[in-house]
Amino acid sequence: MKNSFNIVLLPGDGIGIEVIDATLAVLEPLQARHGFHLSYDRRQGGAHHYKDTGNAFPDSSMLASEKADAILFGAMGWPDIRYPDGTEIAPQLDLRTNLDLYAGVRPIRAIPGLPLQLANPLAEKIDFIIVRESTEGWFNARGKGVKITTSKGDEAVHDTCEITRRGTERLFDFSFRLAQSRNKKNPEKGKVTCVDKSNVFLGMAFMKQIFHERATAFSDVRTDHCYIDAFCLNLIRKPWEYDVCPMENQFGDITSELGAGLICGMGYAPSADLGDKHGLFQPSHGSAPDIAGLGIANPTATILSAAMMLDWLGEKHGVERLIEAARNLEDSVDRAFVNRTLLPFDIGGKDGTSEVTRSVIGAIG
Ligand code: ATP
Repeated sequence: MKNSFNIVLLPGDGIGIEVIDATLAVLEPLQARHGFHLSYDRRQGGAHHYKDTGNAFPDSSMLASEKADAILFGAMGWPDIRYPDGTEIAPQLDLRTNLDLYAGVRPIRAIPGLPLQLANPLAEKIDFIIVRESTEGWFNARGKGVKITTSKGDEAVHDTCEITRRGTERLFDFSFRLAQSRNKKNPEKGKVTCVDKSNVFLGMAFMKQIFHERATAFSDVRTDHCYIDAFCLNLIRKPWEYDVCPMENQFGDITSELGAGLICGMGYAPSADLGDKHGLFQPSHGSAPDIAGLGIANPTATILSAAMMLDWLGEKHGVERLIEAARNLEDSVDRAFVNRTLLPFDIGGKDGTSEVTRSVIGAIG
């Protein structure tokens, strides 16, 4: 049985480097405890690499990522470092396209003990997943926007949102399978909500039609539908009612930040970009230039992303000990916070990156 895994590390910029180092420290005792081995291949890429070399993401980093068992990614991008056309450095978007990472899995789960913004006690039950389609939609327009002159002589730009049948079918199939596996662990779960704007856009009506077509193949999963605007309202009013929520790329980008806000911020929001072959795991946040180098970045989101990585590797290769290690790591994060004594800076406390890291290591069961 495969027991050793090659992980490409892409720490990137700003706090990406800090939260990756913290996560590696947590993975150390976990490997010893559960008897598996991760070998790391640290690679270059990001905005500062672009500034130094003129290349944001070397071919060697892309090649290593293609060959790896999994990729652990910090954050890439820096507001002051941009391409000549003014756009930001974002190799993560190229990785999604090149490795066909079509499902952006963004769990929004309230960690017990954290001071949630919503006063309703049901907020403690927040546990849903945004599945962000990550290879098409409005992001299809990246680098392809077309400047035109309108019939009235005005300047305009067309950015095209592309919705394909293949891209949509695989997004929904992934979401239905995810709901099935969540239902096995928790009978209250097992619902997929299609989030769209099908009352306005033809592409979104096409998505909704495909959602209902694919649902017939997953009759054990409950289905639900919500327009994106109503979904944003409901995320504040009753987010505990959602389970698996697939949606178009840009909608997923925006709502996953809204979701992170519900669970105390970006420092608690992990993510996985998954395809049928490859998996990339990263916190939902960016390089956070405002706090980089201060030792106060919260590594929890990256640690939880590493737990998702172990679970994905375990399921993919049929290695039960990795699945157990993933569960242990997620439980260890909960144990670290549950007593309300660990208080990171991002919730107004004084605990920095190393205190959070030490607490999670100390909680590993
Ligand atoms: P990007 O567009 O690159 O994803 P962003 O615009 O979402 O980035 P972030 O870098 O995620 O911006 O930062 C948003 C805010 O959240 C900043 O104030 C930052 O300090 C804070 N933040 C992000 N990640 C963390 C973290 N791990 N710990 C503490 N604060 C964080």
